[in-house]
Amino acid sequence: MNMIIEKYEAKSLVRTSKRSPHHIHLNIYQGCYHNCSYCDGKSEEYFMHDDYTETIRAKINAPALLEKYLVDQGFFPINRETTNTLIDFVKGSRRDFVRSIKPKFIISIFGNICDVYQPAEDELHITRQILQIAYDYGFPVRILTKNVLVMRDLDLIKKINQDSFARVAFTITLANPKDQLIFEPKASSTDERFEALNQLREEGIPAGVYITPVIPWIGDTDKNLNKLFIRLKQAKAEFVITGGLTLKPGRNKEDFMNTINHFYPEYYDQFHELYSNDSEYGQPDIKAWEKYNLQNPIKKGFHMCKEFGLSFYEPRYIPEGTIRSNLEISTILSRIAFLMGEIYEESWKKAYELRETAIELENYQRDLSSMSMDEILSLPFEKHVFRHIIEILQTGKSSYLRKKGDNSQIFFQK
Ligand code: SF4
Repeated sequence: MNMIIEKYEAKSLVRTSKRSPHHIHLNIYQGCYHNCSYCDGKSEEYFMHDDYTETIRAKINAPALLEKYLVDQGFFPINRETTNTLIDFVKGSRRDFVRSIKPKFIISIFGNICDVYQPAEDELHITRQILQIAYDYGFPVRILTKNVLVMRDLDLIKKINQDSFARVAFTITLANPKDQLIFEPKASSTDERFEALNQLREEGIPAGVYITPVIPWIGDTDKNLNKLFIRLKQAKAEFVITGGLTLKPGRNKEDFMNTINHFYPEYYDQFHELYSNDSEYGQPDIKAWEKYNLQNPIKKGFHMCKEFGLSFYEPRYIPEGTIRSNLEISTILSRIAFLMGEIYEESWKKAYELRETAIELENYQRDLSSMSMDEILSLPFEKHVFRHIIEILQTGKSSYLRKKGDNSQIFFQK
């Protein structure tokens, strides 16, 4: 199968969300040559072209679009030696003043449905140019990939991390090379990804792993997960996050089922039954899940992280210029919600309310830590949410998290 690269000038690049206001997301490519058989990006809902895995459409003007976006927001290329902007007239430590005037955000180069380090990038260097702009403008970045081509840009990643923050995450799902090659035929091998992870950690770069999807019967075995966790521990992975397999009706599910039929026919009927509900979101059928006594991959990953002394949370970087205490409180509320809802299943309703409050705090423009108690209590939050917020404000900690044995980075400072 040959790769065809189609370069084009895109009209837009940056995606923002109210639920995650301190990130911007970039999709640099359309299509992904890695052709993973479980790839959610194949779903018709993303309006991807039919030969999505062979013809890779590249936004050749992505760096220019990002730069324009930053300039339009009032930012300067603070780290660029010479520019055509006012920053040329600002010298020495006054540059630090200029760089902290406006709240920054994290540039997420995740390409959730089109890997930003897929083989086309080797030729085009668009992601590299994006990193250069992030560095020039003093912006933090997060990268997610399945390709060790990311190591080509280690020099820039190090520079960004020194200047503000850079994190690299790999998706790694299968320890057995044969299985890995079947499901992720053109991505870097599991060994290569672990080697890159080791190197990044040795270089002091924040780097973690997403085990997503945990494929039922193939990836969810103790053998597979133990092998991965042993290597993650050895590599000193900063965090490990697990997630389940979704198969959306249409191309996504068909491709996956063809792979199972061809390589794992013994599991075909089970997968067929598990995803027979054709859920819009690709979720498995609960009854079939229970019938086969499958384990919840999030809970399993959470408990394995505890067992191996690894963090299940991606530690949060808070960009300069934002309201730090609000974001720290929001982060703690999200963790409480996660444990309460996903892990210990104590109350979905309370977990939902905590999560929604956390999102409100992400967008809230007044610093909670400088408000009076009366002002805080007048905010439209649920009673049980207030209890957590006030405790965090008064003690800097959450007793709920402590009770659950979650001692990872409760970092709020009074
Ligand atoms: S690397 Fe990611 S985007 Fe590319 S095919 Fe695999 S799952 Fe899809």
